[in-house]
Amino acid sequence: MEIPSTETFVILFELYPAFFYTLVFIVSLMVGSFLNVVIYRLPIMMERSWQEEYQQYFSQSQEQMVSPSSDTQTTFNLMKPNSTCPSCGHRIRAWENIPILSYLFLNGKCAKCKVGISIRYPLVELFTALACTFAAIHFGPTASALWAVLFTYILIALLFIDLDKMLLPDQLTLPLLWIGLLISTQGIFVDTTDAIIGATAGYLSLWSVYWLFKLATGKEGMGYGDFKLLAALGAYTGWQGLPVVILLSSFVGAIAGILIMVLQNKGRSLAIPFGPYLAVAGWFTLLYKTEIIDAYLTWAL
Ligand SMILES: [Zn+2]
Repeated sequence: MEIPSTETFVILFELYPAFFYTLVFIVSLMVGSFLNVVIYRLPIMMERSWQEEYQQYFSQSQEQMVSPSSDTQTTFNLMKPNSTCPSCGHRIRAWENIPILSYLFLNGKCAKCKVGISIRYPLVELFTALACTFAAIHFGPTASALWAVLFTYILIALLFIDLDKMLLPDQLTLPLLWIGLLISTQGIFVDTTDAIIGATAGYLSLWSVYWLFKLATGKEGMGYGDFKLLAALGAYTGWQGLPVVILLSSFVGAIAGILIMVLQNKGRSLAIPFGPYLAVAGWFTLLYKTEIIDAYLTWAL
């Protein structure tokens, strides 16, 4: 029997696009489940490595041994230890880890101690699957669709980590940027010139706003992670997409800000990270850059 070649799949997907979209949906549900792990564990891994560096620095500079705390000695990464129930330590078995379905079977409760599981886990899975399928349908059964799906995965991880921890890890923003520049050489989304100018202008624009703001007010309005994220977005949308990203993120930010103030009845001092708005705006810009620019020009002229 002959092994089906990549070409066979391309033809299959072109003939039956619904098959392609279904595949994207199912795979993205599973990746969404993994993203939950990344969102929860990556910030903890970063905090641990900062602690270790800090301790190493002080044990060297003060020439005294600081014993590493017990929790930095145990292995903790994306694969280990296995997921457990945070309240009873029950090890989560494979059948309890099926995206969305397990949550429904278990009625949203731990199989052992019956303590509620956060609704956010199945919601992140569903959100990932829907966003990726939407992007795949937008680009059709093409290579661009697959890169758009990867783009969506990384943005979703960044969005939730920034919401939780006000942090945009380099481990995610930088690969996103490099991948964007690399695929531009194949003409995916934009050409290389537009991607390089987009990435550079994205970084430098927020970098200059940051320094102007800091010189004027002495405060830091945003973090370096935001510059790197906008640089990455610029690599995918090209420099032409940057004004759209900025406008959309301010728009999304204003709506979210008003909603948060109304719903939580909190003052304006509440710090809201900028990253989630950039991520949402960047995603819409990748899909609808041309339409948005056209609509704006029609409206403005
Ligand atoms: Zn439990």
